[in-house]
Amino acid sequence: MDVAVFSTRPYDQKFLDPAAQKHGHAITYFEPRLTQQTAPLAAGFPVVCAFVNDKLDGEVLKQLAAGGTRLIALRSAGFNHVDLVAASEFGLTVARVPAYSPHAVAEHTVAMILSLNRKIHRAYNRVREGNFSLDGLLGFDLHGRTVGVVGTGKIGSVVARIMSGFGCVILATDIRANPECEALGVEYVPVSELFARSDIVTLHCPLTPETHHLVDAEMLANVSHPDLMLINTSRGALVDTQAVIAALKAGRLGSVGFDVYEEEADLFFEDLSGKVIQDDVFARLLTFPNVLVTGHQAFFTAEAMEGIAATTMENITTFARTGRPVHEVTIEKLA
Ligand code: NAD
Repeated sequence: MDVAVFSTRPYDQKFLDPAAQKHGHAITYFEPRLTQQTAPLAAGFPVVCAFVNDKLDGEVLKQLAAGGTRLIALRSAGFNHVDLVAASEFGLTVARVPAYSPHAVAEHTVAMILSLNRKIHRAYNRVREGNFSLDGLLGFDLHGRTVGVVGTGKIGSVVARIMSGFGCVILATDIRANPECEALGVEYVPVSELFARSDIVTLHCPLTPETHHLVDAEMLANVSHPDLMLINTSRGALVDTQAVIAALKAGRLGSVGFDVYEEEADLFFEDLSGKVIQDDVFARLLTFPNVLVTGHQAFFTAEAMEGIAATTMENITTFARTGRPVHEVTIEKLA
């Protein structure tokens, strides 16, 4: 099938090209993000392949359907950026990549925990400048500490396993317990208790209306000690960034590691190093010494990219053969 791929970078082509060739699909790559302005580029393409920051609201979906698109093949697990009601109204089928190396995201999460704890981001710069002082670099033993995992699905359960390997006590919260985690000795508790008892809280649940701003001023008030480390490699809008900034300024949060940010669509995946950042909230976040931000790179391993490319092409091939992709996202999935 003819596939229009949006938000394309050279590394996407490297993995999508061989997978498309194997399945006999013809790909046209578009560098820009999918928006109302760029949607006309997809006219005549039965398949549009989109990533996490592409806009798939009612207006864009209407344009795509009018241009002859029938399948939206997401290169992501998350589908919170798609208006599924509108997609169904316009007769568009939506597919996603539900699983691709949960280890990629889990390992990046652990990399953030280790970096923040041992201040590797600060030590790296100091040593390069000939500053070998240890002042301000004090960390803590992970062994014996309590880690709270919010969402023990594919990624959260791997994080729980890795952190229990460090000798941490693992607490978790989820709408359904994961037997693998229970077997590991993970204790399921309500989310407010998890925040009150944990030294490190890491978010691995999807963004839904229920989880939007799960971490807000009220939740942060539950934190019983000022050394809490908060990690978010899931979706930016799980966290009210302004509330986090207020807690950091007041010394009520120990450290913060974000791979995602609520307003990341206008920032991430672009080289903005020569430009002035217009987002004052994000700019403020970057000023804290105890904050580490990466630009939505947790998924970015060779294994994950291969998995994403293979599953995306499988979705397209089965859609071409049967009218249904292997991993369809339906409105019921929202429930
Ligand atoms: P998953 O569906 O396997 O697991 C999500 C878990 O969250 C499930 O166990 C679910 O029951 C639980 N959950 C749902 N609602 C909840 C709630 N209100 N409170 C607590 N738990 C709740 O998903 P996954 O593959 O583990 O991915 C988790 C998230 O990670 C995805 O939704 C996606 O947003 C994010 N992600 C980020 C990256 C990245 O590069 N940063 C890459 C892949 C996925």
